Amino acid sequence: MSPRKAASQASSRKTGRQASTRVASVRRQRALAVLERLKQLYPNATCTLDYDTPLQLLVATILSAQCTDERVNKVTPELFARFPDATAFAIATSADIEPYVRSTGFYRNKAKNIQAACARIVSDFGGEVPSNMEALLTLAGVARKTANVVLAHGFGIIGGVTVDTHVKRLSRRLGLTQRDDPGGIEKDLMQLLPQPDWENWSIRLIYHGRQVCKARKPDCAVCELNALCPSAEVKAEGSVADATDDR
Ligand code: SF4
Repeated sequence: MSPRKAASQASSRKTGRQASTRVASVRRQRALAVLERLKQLYPNATCTLDYDTPLQLLVATILSAQCTDERVNKVTPELFARFPDATAFAIATSADIEPYVRSTGFYRNKAKNIQAACARIVSDFGGEVPSNMEALLTLAGVARKTANVVLAHGFGIIGGVTVDTHVKRLSRRLGLTQRDDPGGIEKDLMQLLPQPDWENWSIRLIYHGRQVCKARKPDCAVCELNALCPSAEVKAEGSVADATDDR
């Protein structure tokens, strides 16, 4: 390669690196601004599933897949009365559990996972839900989303960003990730947000997704994140989103 061509390639690599550093910096600033706004908008946001123990939270989170927390909260009082601990679930059959969780959808699979997860909790973890990511991921029906919820709200451990359907949709609309898979989105968000705020982000974004930035029809006209959002269909006065949009 000629010295001139080599110099030209080195220069384009440098320009590429500078551009990606600039995009990362813009995204980080936007993420932090959105986070602060979300904290103001939803100061008391918390997990909306009803539970008293880490095991109940784990079971409720498994049931919440493709189902509203409200619906899950309707079935869990009877479920937890009939199956008070991991052993009770472990010695049951999934057919015993099914009638209690039928209305949450995909109930056969959910009952099977709850029974298998509890059997493992009893056999491998002394009947207690483990409090680390690696062990949680060995349980049936538990991927990083469920594990993050259980760690954060059951044990106060912030190990990652919970990426559910709302967090995925809003993080993409807000131009903070271009990825489509929850694992990749979580990695992007973990780089942009301060670690102590990882769960804050998810909980508050879920509130905003339910109330304003809905899947089919985002209500951009009344959205309090409008000025920061590159996807806003109606731009707020003095919007900074366009100037900072480097998605
Ligand atoms: S401005 Fe629109 S797209 Fe952006 S977060 Fe708000 S509702 Fe969602």
